Amino acid sequence: MCGIVGAFLATGPVTPVLLDGLRVLEYRGYDSAGLALADGTSQGVRVIKSEGRIANLDNRLAETPLDFDAEDLCAGIGHTRWATHGPPSDVNAHPHGGTGTRLALVHNGIIENYTELKAELQSAGVTFRSDTDSEVLAHLIERALEEAGDLVEAVRSILGRLEGYYALAVLDRHGGRNQLVCARSGPPLALCSTPGGTYLASDILALVAHSNRVVFLDDGDIGRLQANGFEIWDKDGRPAERLATTVEFNSAEAGLGHWPHFMLKEIFEQPDVLARTAFGRIAASGDDVDFEDERLGGDTLADVQRVQVIACGTALHAGQIAAYLIEGLAGIPTDVDFASEFRYRSPCLVPGTLALCISQSGETADTLAAARLAVKHGARLVSICNVDGSSQVRESEGVVLTHAGPEIGVASTKAFTAQLVSAVLLAVRLGRSRESLSREDAAEVLSELRILRSKMGSLLTKEYVEDIKHLARSHMEQTGFLFLGRGVNFPVALEGALKLKEISYMHAEGYAAGEMKHGPIALIDSGMSVFVINAAGPLAGKVRANMEQVQARGGRVVCVGSDPESLTATEEALAVPETLEWLSPILNTIPLQLFAYHVARLRGCDIDKPRNLAKSVTVE
Ligand code: GLU
Repeated sequence: MCGIVGAFLATGPVTPVLLDGLRVLEYRGYDSAGLALADGTSQGVRVIKSEGRIANLDNRLAETPLDFDAEDLCAGIGHTRWATHGPPSDVNAHPHGGTGTRLALVHNGIIENYTELKAELQSAGVTFRSDTDSEVLAHLIERALEEAGDLVEAVRSILGRLEGYYALAVLDRHGGRNQLVCARSGPPLALCSTPGGTYLASDILALVAHSNRVVFLDDGDIGRLQANGFEIWDKDGRPAERLATTVEFNSAEAGLGHWPHFMLKEIFEQPDVLARTAFGRIAASGDDVDFEDERLGGDTLADVQRVQVIACGTALHAGQIAAYLIEGLAGIPTDVDFASEFRYRSPCLVPGTLALCISQSGETADTLAAARLAVKHGARLVSICNVDGSSQVRESEGVVLTHAGPEIGVASTKAFTAQLVSAVLLAVRLGRSRESLSREDAAEVLSELRILRSKMGSLLTKEYVEDIKHLARSHMEQTGFLFLGRGVNFPVALEGALKLKEISYMHAEGYAAGEMKHGPIALIDSGMSVFVINAAGPLAGKVRANMEQVQARGGRVVCVGSDPESLTATEEALAVPETLEWLSPILNTIPLQLFAYHVARLRGCDIDKPRNLAKSVTVE
């Protein structure tokens, strides 16, 4: 959420470097974009910013003669905003300056006590230009800098006054000297250094164009960038060494290539993601899982008595499926909660609780806070996460990395199925660690997982996608959508509804099929499309009965799944290859992703950047 970049180059110009970084991060927020550049002529910092997409900033830059020597333009910061305080507008766009022009600041996060700080500054004569919480930071630092002279000292002196959370970068130019300083408490910030310069970003995606060795700041750290490297101090002001992480993917992987949208590209990557996430971890014996993380090996999980799954959004749906898998395969009682709810409960965790936190980015604010609370209450923390080196990964006792690669589409697709695959692996590992799952049953699940790749491929053929496009065309004018499923496919229904609403803005609800008769059945008429997810298996007959209840009331039913009788009982159907019930969510999800994509495309929606949303939710 929100993208921050910064660079201090050996020689300028820095503008194209910052713009390239912002373009990579635009999926994290697209309410406005802006740059601040060290201006060699005016002995200050020049801010250029605009409401809306980076294209607007490009236009503004084209209109703004940067009438100072390009060689001076060697230091700068940039921001793409996801507004929390104050509407998207030019004045609320970051960077924000103080009263003078010597510094500018970009901020990701929320300053919760900004009203008090603002009132105090106003009574000292400061005039505010924006409605943001972030502007207080610029004024506080500007005033501190007048006394301290050194930007690191100035930033440090104000951090203790802040409530809330932040990743920030400040650029100061004074007396012919450029200073670039960053700090974090909550949202992520990473740095890298090359012979050409030093870079900062709130997401490693913006750094991989420069280096695949990145350093994450710890909470409370302050960093100073110079052209020839960076220094870091911890929260107590001591010089700190932070270990570099090697980033596995390259910048080309984060590109669109020939695809019209990242979402479509990412949907089609899913068979390969499954292979990358699962195959290398299936033990040679075929009946256990060998994670590279030894903390999950052998009998290390044998004493797990209970699992508490914690996640948000799509990852929560993966977590709900994980709960069915862990109970069904490993026989361990499992609870699931929204991270945003869990973190404000007074959780009663029994001894032997394993907190399983699931997040694509590993920086989701609510999930991180909930994970810390679970640890405080005595739980062991295991994460399923897509970003090595992220806060969640660093704080976990055990980690299952999903090898989905960078996910740019705001609506999660490949990260979700990679989370499901990881959940299957973890459930098998838990079951084997406690010997509550037999070797034969483990082997059956793992060998079926191997052949799932080609079954996934059959859902991505031209003909299959054409059928979905056709279905999308005939349903795009419906008044609403219900998605129904049972058991392990109930969360698939939730995810199908979420995908459709987030990118097409159509009203959609996911429901447990058996719950429909307790309320939502009143909604059913011919304008309501009802997607029934029904995999062959023990619950198929029950779901069929629910489907018939909808048909009897004139609902327009689309059956998705592998139950042969349901597929023939409906006029509209998307058949999915049969697999083990436990693995069926991985397949059933794919047609629902494609359906949402094609409805959104037909409706002319901005698929990769849906309104009001942004990726990696680093605010509460
Ligand atoms: N709270 C700040 C604002 O609304 C920063 C938001 C962000 O993280 O993009 O401007």
